[in-house]
Amino acid sequence: ADFKAMRFICSAPNPRAFPEPAGAEIAFAGRSNAGKSSALNALCERTGLARTSKTPGRTQAINFFTSDQLRFADLPGYGFAKVPPAVKAAWQALIEGYLATRTTLAGVVLIMDARRPLMEFDRQLIGWGEEQGLGFHLLLTKADKLSRNQQLNILRKVEREMPDASVQLFSATKRQGIDEARAAIAAFATG
Ligand code: GDP
Repeated sequence: ADFKAMRFICSAPNPRAFPEPAGAEIAFAGRSNAGKSSALNALCERTGLARTSKTPGRTQAINFFTSDQLRFADLPGYGFAKVPPAVKAAWQALIEGYLATRTTLAGVVLIMDARRPLMEFDRQLIGWGEEQGLGFHLLLTKADKLSRNQQLNILRKVEREMPDASVQLFSATKRQGIDEARAAIAAFATG
C-alpha cells in the first residue's frame, strides 16, 4: 500500500455519513493526546493529514482516508476528563456502531502513550473488540520519552497482558517503529 498517497475522504458525525465500504479498512483509536494524529501523519509522511481538535468533546466524528484499496478510519479520541456524560455516550455509540457494523474493517490500531498504556477505556475497547473478533495492533507511542530499558519493560508488560494483540514501540518524533507499524497494517489489510 502507498501510505504517502493517503488522502482525506470525509468526516462522518454519524453512520449515515460513512463512505461506502470499499477495500480493507483499518481503524485508529486512542485516548485524546495519546499521539494518534502524530502517528498517522508519521505513517503517511505528511504533516496535517490527521488533525486534533484541542477542544474536548468537539471532534465527535470519524475521519476517513484512502489510498488505493487501503482505507483508514480515524476515530475520535476518548478520555477527556471534563467531557459531559452525553458527549461520552455519543462517542461510545458512534465508535461501537462503527466497529460492530463496518463490513470492511480489517483491524484496529490502538495508539497509547507508552508511559501510561492500557488505561481503563483502552482495556474495555480491546476486550469488547476482541469479543467481536477484531484484531488489535497496540502502538506504544512517545517511546522517545522513555529509556531503552523502560521501553522494553513496558513492551513486555503489554504483550503479557494482551496476548491476542500485537504490540510495538513507536515514536513519531524520532520516526521509530514506522516500518513495523506499516507491516502490521499491511498484514491486517491482506488478512
Ligand atoms: P492525539 O490527540 O492522540 O491525536 O495526539 P497528538 O498527535 O495531537 O499528540 C499530542 C501531543 O503529544 C502533542 O503535543 C504532540 O506533539 C505530542 N506527541 C505526539 N507523538 C509524540 C512522540 O512520538 N513523541 C513525543 N515526544 N511527543 C509526541
